[in-house]
Amino acid sequence: MATYDLIIIGAGNLGLWTAHALAGRGFGRIAVCERGWAGSGATTRSAGVVRQQGGSETAIKLGIWSRQCYLDLGAELGLDSGFTETGYYVLAETEAEHAAFLALVDLRRACGMENEWLDAAEGRARFPGLDWEHLRGATYTANDGYVHPPIVARNITFAAARHPAIDVFERCTVEGIAQARGAFTVRTTRGTFTSDRVLDAGGPRGARAVGAMVGVEVPVSAARHLVVTYPDVPSFPMFFALAKGVYVRPEEQGALLGLSNPDERADPSDRYQLDFDWDYFEKMRPAWESVFPALAGQRVSRAWAGSIDYTPDHLPIIDQPLPGFYVLAAGGHGMMWGPALGLKMAELIVDGAVRDLPAEEIKLDRFREGYVHHDAIALPFPTA
Ligand SMILES: Cc1cc2nc3c(=O)[nH]c(=O)nc-3n(C[C@H](O)[C@H](O)[C@H](O)COP(=O)(O)OP(=O)(O)OC[C@H]3O[C@@H](n4cnc5c(N)ncnc54)[C@H](O)[C@@H]3O)c2cc1C
Repeated sequence: MATYDLIIIGAGNLGLWTAHALAGRGFGRIAVCERGWAGSGATTRSAGVVRQQGGSETAIKLGIWSRQCYLDLGAELGLDSGFTETGYYVLAETEAEHAAFLALVDLRRACGMENEWLDAAEGRARFPGLDWEHLRGATYTANDGYVHPPIVARNITFAAARHPAIDVFERCTVEGIAQARGAFTVRTTRGTFTSDRVLDAGGPRGARAVGAMVGVEVPVSAARHLVVTYPDVPSFPMFFALAKGVYVRPEEQGALLGLSNPDERADPSDRYQLDFDWDYFEKMRPAWESVFPALAGQRVSRAWAGSIDYTPDHLPIIDQPLPGFYVLAAGGHGMMWGPALGLKMAELIVDGAVRDLPAEEIKLDRFREGYVHHDAIALPFPTA
Protein backbone atom coordinates (compact mmCIF):
# COMPACT_ATOMS: atom_id res chain seq x y z
CA MET A 1 0.00 0.00 0.00
CA ALA A 2 1.70 3.21 -1.19
CA THR A 3 1.68 6.24 1.09
CA TYR A 4 1.63 9.84 -0.13
CA ASP A 5 1.56 13.28 1.48
CA LEU A 6 -1.46 14.13 -0.67
CA ILE A 7 -3.80 12.16 -2.93
CA ILE A 8 -5.49 14.28 -5.59
CA ILE A 9 -8.63 12.79 -7.13
CA GLY A 10 -9.00 14.06 -10.69
CA ALA A 11 -6.36 14.98 -13.28
CA GLY A 12 -8.24 17.86 -14.84
CA ASN A 13 -7.02 21.43 -15.04
CA LEU A 14 -7.63 21.91 -11.30
CA GLY A 15 -6.04 18.76 -9.94
CA LEU A 16 -2.97 19.03 -12.15
CA TRP A 17 -2.33 22.72 -11.47
CA THR A 18 -2.61 22.02 -7.75
CA ALA A 19 -0.03 19.24 -7.98
CA HIS A 20 2.24 21.55 -9.99
CA ALA A 21 1.87 24.43 -7.53
CA LEU A 22 2.59 22.19 -4.54
CA ALA A 23 5.62 20.62 -6.17
CA GLY A 24 6.90 24.13 -6.90
CA ARG A 25 6.69 24.86 -3.18
CA GLY A 26 8.69 21.77 -2.26
CA PHE A 27 5.70 19.87 -0.88
CA GLY A 28 6.11 16.11 -0.35
CA ARG A 29 4.92 13.18 -2.49
CA ILE A 30 1.69 13.54 -4.42
CA ALA A 31 -0.48 10.92 -6.16
CA VAL A 32 -2.94 12.10 -8.79
CA CYS A 33 -5.66 9.50 -9.47
CA GLU A 34 -7.54 9.86 -12.75
CA ARG A 35 -10.20 7.44 -13.91
CA GLY A 36 -9.71 8.32 -17.60
CA TRP A 37 -6.63 10.01 -18.97
CA ALA A 38 -5.27 13.34 -17.80
CA GLY A 39 -7.48 16.12 -19.10
CA SER A 40 -10.19 13.78 -20.37
CA GLY A 41 -13.00 15.32 -18.30
CA ALA A 42 -14.40 18.80 -18.91
CA THR A 43 -10.92 20.23 -19.48
CA THR A 44 -10.21 19.14 -23.05
CA ARG A 45 -13.84 19.53 -24.13
CA SER A 46 -13.92 23.18 -23.10
CA ALA A 47 -13.90 26.28 -25.23
CA GLY A 48 -10.86 27.68 -23.43
CA VAL A 49 -12.04 31.26 -22.92
CA VAL A 50 -9.70 33.07 -20.53
CA ARG A 51 -11.50 36.18 -19.39
CA GLN A 52 -10.18 38.43 -16.67
CA GLN A 53 -13.39 40.46 -16.86
CA GLY A 54 -15.07 38.61 -14.02
CA GLY A 55 -18.19 39.62 -12.17
CA SER A 56 -16.79 39.55 -8.63
CA GLU A 57 -13.47 40.14 -6.86
CA THR A 58 -12.65 36.43 -6.84
CA ALA A 59 -13.58 35.95 -10.49
CA ILE A 60 -11.45 38.90 -11.54
CA LYS A 61 -8.36 37.97 -9.53
CA LEU A 62 -8.45 34.30 -10.54
CA GLY A 63 -8.67 35.37 -14.18
CA ILE A 64 -5.70 37.72 -13.90
CA TRP A 65 -3.50 35.20 -12.10
CA SER A 66 -4.45 32.26 -14.35
CA ARG A 67 -3.67 34.08 -17.58
CA GLN A 68 -0.19 34.78 -16.21
CA CYS A 69 0.26 31.16 -15.08
CA TYR A 70 -0.41 29.88 -18.62
CA LEU A 71 2.17 32.24 -20.07
CA ASP A 72 4.71 31.39 -17.36
CA LEU A 73 4.32 27.63 -17.79
CA GLY A 74 4.71 27.88 -21.55
CA ALA A 75 7.94 29.84 -21.06
CA GLU A 76 9.19 27.44 -18.38
CA LEU A 77 8.61 24.39 -20.59
CA GLY A 78 9.80 26.09 -23.77
CA LEU A 79 6.47 25.17 -25.40
CA ASP A 80 3.53 27.05 -26.86
CA SER A 81 1.56 28.25 -23.82
CA GLY A 82 -1.69 27.69 -25.71
CA PHE A 83 -2.81 31.25 -24.91
CA THR A 84 -3.85 33.63 -27.70
CA GLU A 85 -4.54 37.27 -26.90
CA THR A 86 -7.50 38.68 -28.83
CA GLY A 87 -9.24 41.38 -26.79
CA TYR A 88 -12.71 40.69 -25.41
CA TYR A 89 -15.99 42.62 -25.51
CA VAL A 90 -18.63 41.76 -22.89
CA LEU A 91 -21.82 43.18 -24.40
CA ALA A 92 -24.51 45.06 -22.48
CA GLU A 93 -27.96 44.96 -24.01
CA THR A 94 -30.08 46.49 -21.25
CA GLU A 95 -29.87 49.58 -19.08
CA ALA A 96 -29.56 47.35 -16.00
CA GLU A 97 -26.55 45.60 -17.52
CA HIS A 98 -25.06 48.96 -18.45
CA ALA A 99 -25.22 50.18 -14.84
CA ALA A 100 -23.87 46.90 -13.45
CA PHE A 101 -21.02 46.85 -15.99
CA LEU A 102 -19.90 50.37 -15.03
CA ALA A 103 -19.57 49.25 -11.41
CA LEU A 104 -17.61 46.19 -12.55
CA VAL A 105 -15.16 48.35 -14.51
CA ASP A 106 -14.32 50.13 -11.24
CA LEU A 107 -13.93 46.84 -9.37
CA ARG A 108 -11.70 45.37 -12.08
CA ARG A 109 -9.47 48.41 -12.11
CA ALA A 110 -9.25 48.26 -8.32
CA CYS A 111 -8.10 44.64 -8.71
CA GLY A 112 -5.26 45.81 -10.94
CA MET A 113 -6.44 45.04 -14.47
CA GLU A 114 -7.19 47.23 -17.43
CA ASN A 115 -10.83 47.49 -18.34
CA GLU A 116 -12.90 50.12 -20.07
CA TRP A 117 -16.51 50.88 -20.87
CA LEU A 118 -17.31 51.66 -24.51
CA ASP A 119 -20.64 53.07 -25.54
CA ALA A 120 -22.18 51.69 -28.72
CA ALA A 121 -20.76 54.44 -30.95
CA GLU A 122 -17.22 53.83 -29.71
CA GLY A 123 -17.75 50.07 -30.02
CA ARG A 124 -18.89 50.47 -33.61
CA ALA A 125 -15.86 52.60 -34.41
CA ARG A 126 -13.49 49.93 -33.05
CA PHE A 127 -15.24 46.77 -34.27
CA PRO A 128 -17.95 47.45 -36.85
CA GLY A 129 -18.51 43.70 -37.32
CA LEU A 130 -20.98 43.61 -34.40
CA ASP A 131 -24.51 44.95 -34.69
CA TRP A 132 -24.15 47.75 -32.10
CA GLU A 133 -27.62 49.11 -32.97
CA HIS A 134 -29.22 46.95 -30.28
CA LEU A 135 -26.47 47.24 -27.70
CA ARG A 136 -25.85 49.79 -24.94
CA GLY A 137 -22.16 49.21 -25.19
CA ALA A 138 -19.53 46.82 -23.82
CA THR A 139 -16.70 46.44 -21.39
CA TYR A 140 -13.40 45.69 -23.08
CA THR A 141 -9.99 44.33 -22.10
CA ALA A 142 -7.29 44.10 -24.73
CA ASN A 143 -5.26 41.29 -23.15
CA ASP A 144 -8.08 38.81 -22.57
CA GLY A 145 -8.04 35.83 -24.90
CA TYR A 146 -8.38 32.08 -25.04
CA VAL A 147 -6.34 28.94 -24.57
CA HIS A 148 -6.38 25.91 -26.79
CA PRO A 149 -7.51 23.31 -24.23
CA PRO A 150 -5.57 20.30 -25.56
CA ILE A 151 -2.36 22.35 -25.47
CA VAL A 152 -2.84 23.52 -21.89
CA ALA A 153 -3.79 19.98 -20.86
CA ARG A 154 -0.61 18.72 -22.51
CA ASN A 155 1.53 21.36 -20.79
CA ILE A 156 0.23 20.90 -17.28
CA THR A 157 0.18 17.10 -17.60
CA PHE A 158 3.76 17.18 -18.83
CA ALA A 159 4.82 19.53 -16.02
CA ALA A 160 3.19 17.34 -13.37
CA ALA A 161 4.19 13.96 -14.75
CA ARG A 162 7.87 14.85 -15.10
CA HIS A 163 8.19 16.12 -11.53
CA PRO A 164 9.81 13.50 -9.29
CA ALA A 165 7.42 14.24 -6.41
CA ILE A 166 4.26 13.63 -8.47
CA ASP A 167 2.88 10.27 -9.61
CA VAL A 168 0.01 10.58 -12.12
CA PHE A 169 -2.05 7.38 -12.25
CA GLU A 170 -4.32 7.19 -15.29
CA ARG A 171 -7.11 4.64 -15.62
CA CYS A 172 -7.24 4.81 -11.84
CA THR A 173 -10.80 5.20 -10.58
CA VAL A 174 -11.24 6.06 -6.92
CA GLU A 175 -13.96 3.74 -5.66
CA GLY A 176 -14.00 4.49 -1.96
CA ILE A 177 -12.33 6.43 0.84
CA ALA A 178 -12.05 5.21 4.43
CA GLN A 179 -10.91 7.32 7.35
CA ALA A 180 -9.20 6.05 10.51
CA ARG A 181 -7.05 7.82 13.09
CA GLY A 182 -6.64 10.95 10.95
CA ALA A 183 -5.51 9.08 7.83
CA PHE A 184 -7.35 8.34 4.60
CA THR A 185 -7.26 5.01 2.79
CA VAL A 186 -8.16 5.50 -0.86
CA ARG A 187 -9.31 2.42 -2.73
CA THR A 188 -8.74 2.59 -6.49
CA THR A 189 -8.79 0.30 -9.50
CA ARG A 190 -4.98 0.46 -9.42
CA GLY A 191 -4.52 -0.42 -5.80
CA THR A 192 -4.92 1.21 -2.41
CA PHE A 193 -3.15 4.39 -1.33
CA THR A 194 -2.94 6.07 2.05
CA SER A 195 -2.42 9.68 3.00
CA ASP A 196 -3.18 12.24 5.69
CA ARG A 197 -4.62 14.50 2.98
CA VAL A 198 -7.03 14.02 0.08
CA LEU A 199 -8.07 16.63 -2.47
CA ASP A 200 -11.39 16.28 -4.27
CA ALA A 201 -10.84 17.74 -7.75
CA GLY A 202 -13.34 15.45 -9.45
CA GLY A 203 -14.94 18.14 -11.62
CA PRO A 204 -18.50 18.11 -12.98
CA ARG A 205 -18.67 14.32 -13.05
CA GLY A 206 -16.91 13.48 -9.82
CA ALA A 207 -16.62 16.24 -7.23
CA ARG A 208 -20.03 15.58 -5.69
CA ALA A 209 -19.57 11.78 -5.61
CA VAL A 210 -16.06 11.99 -4.14
CA GLY A 211 -17.31 14.34 -1.40
CA ALA A 212 -20.08 11.86 -0.61
CA MET A 213 -17.43 9.16 0.00
CA VAL A 214 -16.47 11.03 3.18
CA GLY A 215 -19.90 12.46 3.98
CA VAL A 216 -19.23 15.97 2.64
CA GLU A 217 -21.88 17.61 0.48
CA VAL A 218 -20.15 19.25 -2.49
CA PRO A 219 -22.61 21.42 -4.47
CA VAL A 220 -21.02 20.89 -7.88
CA SER A 221 -23.50 20.00 -10.60
CA ALA A 222 -23.21 19.33 -14.30
CA ALA A 223 -25.20 20.80 -17.16
CA ARG A 224 -24.87 20.39 -20.89
CA HIS A 225 -22.97 23.05 -22.79
CA LEU A 226 -22.76 23.31 -26.58
CA VAL A 227 -19.88 24.40 -28.81
CA VAL A 228 -19.66 24.72 -32.59
CA THR A 229 -16.89 25.88 -34.88
CA TYR A 230 -17.11 27.61 -38.24
CA PRO A 231 -14.23 27.00 -40.64
CA ASP A 232 -13.91 30.37 -42.30
CA VAL A 233 -14.66 33.70 -40.57
CA PRO A 234 -12.38 36.71 -41.06
CA SER A 235 -10.36 37.86 -38.05
CA PHE A 236 -12.29 39.34 -35.10
CA PRO A 237 -11.93 39.75 -31.32
CA MET A 238 -13.90 37.75 -28.74
CA PHE A 239 -17.27 38.77 -27.41
CA PHE A 240 -19.83 37.54 -24.89
CA ALA A 241 -23.53 38.37 -25.35
CA LEU A 242 -24.28 37.82 -21.68
CA ALA A 243 -28.09 38.11 -21.86
CA LYS A 244 -28.22 35.58 -24.70
CA GLY A 245 -25.77 33.17 -23.07
CA VAL A 246 -23.61 33.10 -26.22
CA TYR A 247 -19.89 33.78 -26.65
CA VAL A 248 -17.68 33.74 -29.74
CA ARG A 249 -13.94 33.50 -30.13
CA PRO A 250 -11.53 32.96 -33.02
CA GLU A 251 -10.63 29.35 -33.81
CA GLU A 252 -7.82 28.75 -36.26
CA GLN A 253 -9.09 30.36 -39.52
CA GLY A 254 -12.65 30.65 -38.32
CA ALA A 255 -14.81 31.06 -35.24
CA LEU A 256 -15.91 29.07 -32.20
CA LEU A 257 -19.29 29.70 -30.64
CA GLY A 258 -20.43 28.41 -27.25
CA LEU A 259 -23.91 28.51 -25.81
CA SER A 260 -25.88 27.28 -22.82
CA ASN A 261 -29.61 26.73 -22.67
CA PRO A 262 -31.03 28.37 -19.51
CA ASP A 263 -33.77 25.72 -19.45
CA GLU A 264 -31.22 22.88 -19.36
CA ARG A 265 -31.52 21.05 -16.03
CA ALA A 266 -28.74 19.63 -13.90
CA ASP A 267 -27.91 16.10 -15.00
CA PRO A 268 -27.22 13.88 -11.96
CA SER A 269 -26.02 10.94 -14.07
CA ASP A 270 -22.31 10.31 -14.54
CA ARG A 271 -22.50 10.67 -18.34
CA TYR A 272 -20.54 13.42 -20.03
CA GLN A 273 -23.67 14.55 -21.99
CA LEU A 274 -22.21 14.25 -25.46
CA ASP A 275 -25.45 14.65 -27.43
CA PHE A 276 -25.48 17.94 -29.29
CA ASP A 277 -28.83 19.77 -29.03
CA TRP A 278 -29.41 20.82 -32.63
CA ASP A 279 -32.95 22.00 -31.91
CA TYR A 280 -31.72 24.56 -29.39
CA PHE A 281 -28.87 25.54 -31.67
CA GLU A 282 -31.30 26.27 -34.52
CA LYS A 283 -33.69 28.07 -32.20
CA MET A 284 -30.91 30.38 -31.04
CA ARG A 285 -29.31 30.89 -34.44
CA PRO A 286 -31.11 34.21 -35.15
CA ALA A 287 -29.90 35.56 -31.79
CA TRP A 288 -26.18 35.33 -32.49
CA GLU A 289 -26.48 35.94 -36.22
CA SER A 290 -28.15 39.25 -35.40
CA VAL A 291 -25.34 40.22 -33.00
CA PHE A 292 -22.53 39.05 -35.30
CA PRO A 293 -23.75 38.99 -38.92
CA ALA A 294 -20.48 37.43 -40.16
CA LEU A 295 -21.75 34.09 -38.80
CA ALA A 296 -24.97 34.15 -40.82
CA GLY A 297 -25.17 31.28 -43.27
CA GLN A 298 -21.78 29.86 -42.25
CA ARG A 299 -21.26 26.12 -42.42
CA VAL A 300 -20.43 24.36 -39.15
CA SER A 301 -17.18 22.40 -39.20
CA ARG A 302 -17.37 20.77 -35.77
CA ALA A 303 -20.01 20.53 -33.04
CA TRP A 304 -19.73 19.04 -29.60
CA ALA A 305 -21.39 19.02 -26.22
CA GLY A 306 -19.96 18.43 -22.78
CA SER A 307 -20.86 18.52 -19.12
CA ILE A 308 -19.90 21.85 -17.65
CA ASP A 309 -19.56 22.18 -13.89
CA TYR A 310 -21.44 24.79 -11.95
CA THR A 311 -21.88 25.88 -8.36
CA PRO A 312 -24.99 27.69 -7.12
CA ASP A 313 -23.33 31.13 -7.39
CA HIS A 314 -20.94 30.36 -10.32
CA LEU A 315 -18.01 31.01 -7.99
CA PRO A 316 -15.32 28.49 -7.05
CA ILE A 317 -14.88 26.31 -3.98
CA ILE A 318 -11.49 26.34 -2.26
CA ASP A 319 -11.97 24.77 1.13
CA GLN A 320 -11.12 22.15 3.71
CA PRO A 321 -14.45 20.91 5.11
CA LEU A 322 -12.85 18.10 7.16
CA PRO A 323 -9.37 17.90 8.66
CA GLY A 324 -7.18 16.73 5.77
CA PHE A 325 -10.00 16.65 3.19
CA TYR A 326 -9.95 19.47 0.64
CA VAL A 327 -12.40 20.48 -2.10
CA LEU A 328 -11.55 22.44 -5.23
CA ALA A 329 -14.13 23.37 -7.89
CA ALA A 330 -14.29 25.98 -10.61
CA GLY A 331 -17.98 26.87 -10.91
CA GLY A 332 -17.79 26.37 -14.68
CA HIS A 333 -14.73 28.57 -15.18
CA GLY A 334 -11.97 26.03 -14.84
CA MET A 335 -10.02 27.16 -17.88
CA MET A 336 -9.97 30.83 -16.98
CA TRP A 337 -9.41 30.09 -13.27
CA GLY A 338 -7.82 26.61 -13.08
CA PRO A 339 -4.16 27.57 -12.70
CA ALA A 340 -4.88 30.14 -10.00
CA LEU A 341 -7.20 27.75 -8.22
CA GLY A 342 -4.26 25.35 -8.06
CA LEU A 343 -2.08 28.07 -6.55
CA LYS A 344 -4.72 28.94 -3.97
CA MET A 345 -5.34 25.32 -3.03
CA ALA A 346 -1.59 24.86 -2.56
CA GLU A 347 -1.65 27.90 -0.28
CA LEU A 348 -4.48 26.40 1.77
CA ILE A 349 -2.70 23.04 2.08
CA VAL A 350 0.73 24.42 2.94
CA ASP A 351 -0.04 27.69 4.75
CA GLY A 352 -3.41 26.75 6.19
CA ALA A 353 -5.25 29.73 4.67
CA VAL A 354 -6.11 31.34 1.34
CA ARG A 355 -4.82 34.89 0.98
CA ASP A 356 -6.23 37.77 -1.10
CA LEU A 357 -9.66 36.29 -1.84
CA PRO A 358 -12.86 36.98 0.15
CA ALA A 359 -13.83 33.91 2.21
CA GLU A 360 -17.51 34.43 1.38
CA GLU A 361 -16.74 33.77 -2.30
CA ILE A 362 -14.74 30.56 -1.88
CA LYS A 363 -15.77 28.62 1.21
CA LEU A 364 -18.34 25.84 1.26
CA ASP A 365 -20.32 27.19 4.20
CA ARG A 366 -21.43 30.22 2.18
CA PHE A 367 -24.12 28.00 0.64
CA ARG A 368 -25.57 27.25 4.06
CA GLU A 369 -25.63 30.90 5.06
CA GLY A 370 -27.91 32.10 2.23
CA TYR A 371 -25.29 33.29 -0.20
CA VAL A 372 -25.40 36.82 -1.54
CA HIS A 373 -22.30 36.96 -3.72
CA HIS A 374 -22.28 35.67 -7.24
CA ASP A 375 -20.32 35.98 -10.43
CA ALA A 376 -22.47 38.28 -12.54
CA ILE A 377 -20.61 37.43 -15.76
CA ALA A 378 -21.54 33.80 -16.21
CA LEU A 379 -23.47 31.54 -18.55
CA PRO A 380 -27.15 30.96 -17.75
CA PHE A 381 -26.68 27.75 -15.79
CA PRO A 382 -29.62 26.06 -14.07
CA THR A 383 -30.52 27.57 -10.71
CA ALA A 384 -31.03 24.18 -9.07
C1 LIG B 1 -18.19 22.44 -23.67
C2 LIG B 1 -17.50 23.15 -22.53
C3 LIG B 1 -16.97 24.44 -22.73
C4 LIG B 1 -16.32 25.10 -21.68
N1 LIG B 1 -15.74 26.31 -21.92
C5 LIG B 1 -15.06 26.93 -20.94
C6 LIG B 1 -14.40 28.16 -21.20
O1 LIG B 1 -14.44 28.68 -22.31
N2 LIG B 1 -13.69 28.74 -20.19
C7 LIG B 1 -13.66 28.19 -18.93
O2 LIG B 1 -13.04 28.78 -18.05
N3 LIG B 1 -14.27 27.02 -18.67
C8 LIG B 1 -14.97 26.39 -19.63
N4 LIG B 1 -15.57 25.20 -19.39
C9 LIG B 1 -15.53 24.67 -18.01
C10 LIG B 1 -14.19 24.02 -17.76
O3 LIG B 1 -13.91 23.09 -18.79
C11 LIG B 1 -14.25 23.32 -16.41
O4 LIG B 1 -14.63 24.24 -15.41
C12 LIG B 1 -12.90 22.72 -16.04
O5 LIG B 1 -12.41 21.89 -17.04
C13 LIG B 1 -13.05 21.97 -14.74
O6 LIG B 1 -11.80 21.35 -14.46
P1 LIG B 1 -11.75 20.21 -13.40
O7 LIG B 1 -10.34 19.81 -13.25
O8 LIG B 1 -12.50 20.66 -12.18
O9 LIG B 1 -12.69 19.07 -14.03
P2 LIG B 1 -12.34 17.94 -15.12
O10 LIG B 1 -11.55 18.45 -16.24
O11 LIG B 1 -13.63 17.25 -15.43
O12 LIG B 1 -11.38 16.97 -14.30
C14 LIG B 1 -11.86 16.18 -13.24
C15 LIG B 1 -11.31 14.80 -13.45
O13 LIG B 1 -11.65 13.99 -12.33
C16 LIG B 1 -11.78 12.67 -12.78
N5 LIG B 1 -12.55 11.93 -11.80
C17 LIG B 1 -13.80 12.17 -11.37
N6 LIG B 1 -14.17 11.26 -10.46
C18 LIG B 1 -13.13 10.41 -10.30
C19 LIG B 1 -12.90 9.27 -9.52
N7 LIG B 1 -13.84 8.78 -8.68
N8 LIG B 1 -11.70 8.65 -9.62
C20 LIG B 1 -10.74 9.12 -10.45
N9 LIG B 1 -10.91 10.20 -11.23
C21 LIG B 1 -12.09 10.84 -11.16
C22 LIG B 1 -12.50 12.82 -14.12
O14 LIG B 1 -12.30 11.71 -14.96
C23 LIG B 1 -11.88 14.09 -14.67
O15 LIG B 1 -10.85 13.87 -15.60
C24 LIG B 1 -16.22 24.49 -20.40
C25 LIG B 1 -16.75 23.21 -20.22
C26 LIG B 1 -17.38 22.55 -21.26
C27 LIG B 1 -17.91 21.16 -21.02
